[in-house]
Amino acid sequence: MAIRIPQEVQDFYEEVQNIYRKLHREPELEYNVHKTAGFVAQYLKDLGLEVTEGIGKTGVSAVLKGIIPIDSQSSNLCIMFRADMDALPIEEDTNLPYKSINPGCMHACGHDAHVAILLVSAKILTMSPDFQGSIKFVFQPAEENLKKGALEMIKDGVLDGVDEVYAIHVGKPLKIGDYLFNNRFGSVNNDHFAVNVVGKGGHGSCPEGTNDPIPVAAAMIQAFCGISANRQRPFRIQTNIVRTSDTYNAIPTSVKLKGAVRSLDSEDREFVIKRMNEICLGLEVAYDITIELEFKRGYGTVKNNKNCGFWCLRAIRQICFGTQFEQILQIGEDFSYFTDRKPGAYLLIGCGEGEHGMHNSKFFIDEQVLLVGISYWVTLAKNRLNSDNY
Ligand SMILES: [Zn+2]
Ligand SMILES: [Zn+2]
Repeated sequence: MAIRIPQEVQDFYEEVQNIYRKLHREPELEYNVHKTAGFVAQYLKDLGLEVTEGIGKTGVSAVLKGIIPIDSQSSNLCIMFRADMDALPIEEDTNLPYKSINPGCMHACGHDAHVAILLVSAKILTMSPDFQGSIKFVFQPAEENLKKGALEMIKDGVLDGVDEVYAIHVGKPLKIGDYLFNNRFGSVNNDHFAVNVVGKGGHGSCPEGTNDPIPVAAAMIQAFCGISANRQRPFRIQTNIVRTSDTYNAIPTSVKLKGAVRSLDSEDREFVIKRMNEICLGLEVAYDITIELEFKRGYGTVKNNKNCGFWCLRAIRQICFGTQFEQILQIGEDFSYFTDRKPGAYLLIGCGEGEHGMHNSKFFIDEQVLLVGISYWVTLAKNRLNSDNY
């Protein structure tokens, strides 16, 4: 067996499954997670915890204090566990009995699992708070689509008194029992760009007097690829969307390009921006054409702290006996706002194989991951808050 689930967690399988399915059935978007947040707050109140609502617009948090007396400065630790609550504007295309009932909205990134896992973890830890220090359970809105829910929660003080921050994400295609942790980064800088090449259109039979933007766009795509070609640096530039007219016998007026840039540090990010600007300026001169470049900075890198990473791996290795993958995830993740301010660790836990990954309309999870997630949180809490080993 690739996982070992403590009996105290196993006993909650039905409960966590029910919560997960309920949340999956009723996904909500961005900050409009009112129903989800209401459910979360009520569940935490029923545990007897003091709950803060409306933090970061629709976020929820609650603190659980351990019952073992504090005997040193380092044992008065507050560790934060975070789950994101929002879904995606995707029409679900599965046959699950608990398929989304909200048209055009789907939990296709597993955030429903994150919420269910953290709620039941809070319950189990509340039943036996035999640790020092405290745990802050944080449920945030608006992680997807660069809506920066984490930042809104920080502005409202969610990190006050917090020493360390932890988060999980379900991962596919990773088997149950496999996990991914990189000892430096949990995600990459995730930026976007849009370019508008504005020429002069006209009838294809008489190109004189026109200025064709298509060769310019082609040269630009090649030149963008070249930015990384001669640098031994791990950044990527992809032009993923090219749009122009679809008239076969006309020279179009403009071509629009859109794409993504992924990098690991601000030096690479700024280098890419500088080179893209230079290329656009050069092409403007070369082709006597107008080019508009818009670069939008997305989420920064999630930074995994060495000490937090130690506790993260120690806990997950007590639960999972599959493969540990170590590559840097090429996703964007707004947990970065937390790890920019506090030491933390971001872990990906396998939620099953299959060809339909995250953000796919056919995405689904193996519900065994719910037990893995709870076991991880409970184990991490007990290990971390019963130790003076920094
Ligand atoms: Zn996502
Ligand atoms: Zn996600």
